[in-house]
Amino acid sequence: MSACRLRERLTARLRSSVRAKLLALVLAPLAVGVPILLGLVWTWGTQAYERLLTYKISSDMVTAHEYFDRVRIGVGHEVQAAAESHRLALHLPLRASAEVELSALLANLAVARGLDFLHLLDRDGRVLASAHNEFPPALPRAAWPAVAAALAGDAHTTVERLTAGQLEEIDPALRRRARLDLVPTRAAAPDPRSVEDRGLIFHAAAPVRDAQGRPLGVLEGGVLLNGNLDIVDRINAIVYREGSLPLGSRGTATLFLDDVRIATNVHLFEGRRALGTRVSQAVRDYVLGRGETWLGTAFVVNDDYVSGYEPVADGRGERVGMLYVGFLEQPFRSALHLALGALFLVFIVLSGWGTVLSLRWARSVFQPIERMNAVIQRVERGEAAARVGEVASRDELGRLAGEFDHLLDTLAAKREELQRWAEELDAKVAERTRELSEANEHLRRAQQQLVMSEKLAAIGELTAGVAHEINNPVAVIQGNLDVLRDVLGEAAGPVRGEIRLIHQQADRIRQIVTKLLQFARPGDFAGYVEEVDVNAVLADCLLLTRHNMEKRRIEIERRKHASLPVEINRSELQQVLINLIVNAIQAMPQGGTLTLVSENWVEHDLPLGVVLRVRDTGQGIAPENLSSIFDPFFTTKKGSGTGLGLSISYTIVERYGGRITVDSRPGEGAEFAVWLRREPLYDAAPEAPRFMRRWDIAGA
Ligand code: ADP
Repeated sequence: MSACRLRERLTARLRSSVRAKLLALVLAPLAVGVPILLGLVWTWGTQAYERLLTYKISSDMVTAHEYFDRVRIGVGHEVQAAAESHRLALHLPLRASAEVELSALLANLAVARGLDFLHLLDRDGRVLASAHNEFPPALPRAAWPAVAAALAGDAHTTVERLTAGQLEEIDPALRRRARLDLVPTRAAAPDPRSVEDRGLIFHAAAPVRDAQGRPLGVLEGGVLLNGNLDIVDRINAIVYREGSLPLGSRGTATLFLDDVRIATNVHLFEGRRALGTRVSQAVRDYVLGRGETWLGTAFVVNDDYVSGYEPVADGRGERVGMLYVGFLEQPFRSALHLALGALFLVFIVLSGWGTVLSLRWARSVFQPIERMNAVIQRVERGEAAARVGEVASRDELGRLAGEFDHLLDTLAAKREELQRWAEELDAKVAERTRELSEANEHLRRAQQQLVMSEKLAAIGELTAGVAHEINNPVAVIQGNLDVLRDVLGEAAGPVRGEIRLIHQQADRIRQIVTKLLQFARPGDFAGYVEEVDVNAVLADCLLLTRHNMEKRRIEIERRKHASLPVEINRSELQQVLINLIVNAIQAMPQGGTLTLVSENWVEHDLPLGVVLRVRDTGQGIAPENLSSIFDPFFTTKKGSGTGLGLSISYTIVERYGGRITVDSRPGEGAEFAVWLRREPLYDAAPEAPRFMRRWDIAGA
């Protein structure tokens, strides 16, 4: 993943998570502080280490310096002791004959005192005798600072740098011993020479006195430092005693003549000492040039050494060489790196451990909040039952999670209650709507009936008037026809058929007028009411209509289940049933089955009356006609029908508190049911006017 995407993801996580924010807040100081702390520890550690090494090398330098001085002073003491030797005083003032004897004495003294040369000088500084040299220096030696001091009466020791000639003058053997081949050295100051032939010596002189303490002359002696490994080994042994340096380091000591190593225990290779090699130009300029003491790390021959160089001055104060001590730095540095490494490791392990602990702790602290957040998201997705559940933490956040669940429970309960209310409200609204639409329907029907009753009332009045007006002329026509037939007698033979036809048609007019009057004023036609056996009336009706059925192949099925009598006018019931049966027969011109059923009308275990069903298997009634068949003058039998049969039947039945219902499917026939009460209920529809009928159309 690219660094950019990683940064984006981290930023997004920081924005969206409180835990990430607080963790960043806690860990950021750790992430920034630990590296800074480690850097500081590294810097301070290294500085302290440098200071420690500088202190050590500076104290080593002091020890080496003291030892070097002690050796120098020791040489002075040896010369002084020899000068105070009783035997030497005896030879002074010197006699010529005693010169050989004196040289031998000086030679013995030089060997005994560990001196490389020994001269006896007179009070002017001229050499009287020499230990080893057959040809002692001819010139007076009073110019040398040590000799000058001795001539003045004080023993004195200096360090002196001698040229090859001056060495030759003292002792040719000394010159040979001092000679060193120069080894080319990296970083040293350029030097065209290939040989170092000068010498560095401890130079001591002490006055020789007679028994009374009067000065007789001076004894001058010295030790050559070139190649004097004894001194550097002893300095090394004293400064770096066994066990004073860590394992693997080693101490070194060196004497320089100018910048050339003339005595050293620094090794080049294969055990060969680095004699004739030279110090780096930087050290040379610092120590010999400026006269300062160098304390610090320096590259010595082939390795880094913690080094101390201090200038060595001669009797006149001129810098003629250097004293060096040092030890190999590598083991110290390794020890430092090991210590710092261990420290860093401990730091990193502790920080890592702390971070892991913080992360886990933060997770346990923020777990309730994160679970609450997850629950909110699940609830938003529609999981109403999502809950935080039991959390381990008992702090404020843990209690908050518990309260949150409680809140969700309360919300869910309220929501359920609201939903229940809403459902109840819906149900109430639906009920009210239904009631309203029922009321509307009632209203609509009432309006229809009102309109219809108005029409019927008008028709009724008109019909009654017209019927009366027609009845009289018809009666006149029939009366006159009878007169005509009686008067004509046999003469009416040719027109008898026409007279019978006129009679028939006049009779038909009278019947129609009677029906019209019955429709307009049904009360005028009502007879007396009696208890009637409906099964017997049905049988009578069948008998009366049988001649209609014989022409068509109609089968009759009868089921007489009714056991209750009804109170009704017998001929009116007969009229209703005959009307229904004739309609059924007319609906089956090709034949079929006529079913007549009588059964008890029982509601809620209460016997209310009887139901008479007239069913046929004819063409049925078209759905659009169902609502009109009970209307007066509605007929589909053009020419032959009056459209009054059903309407009069309904009016009759309704007058007794009953009703007629119809059920029909086109092509499958029709069933008319007449519902009759045991006892008439005349005021069943008190609000209904004379021509207002109420009928139910089952299945409509
Ligand atoms: P009419 O018989 O003189 O037409 P009705 O009032 O008796 O008058 O009947 C009205 C109409 O009802 C009929 O014209 C007919 O269309 C329909 N009808 C009545 N009874 C039946 C039946 N059983 N089958 C089919 N149609 C019927």
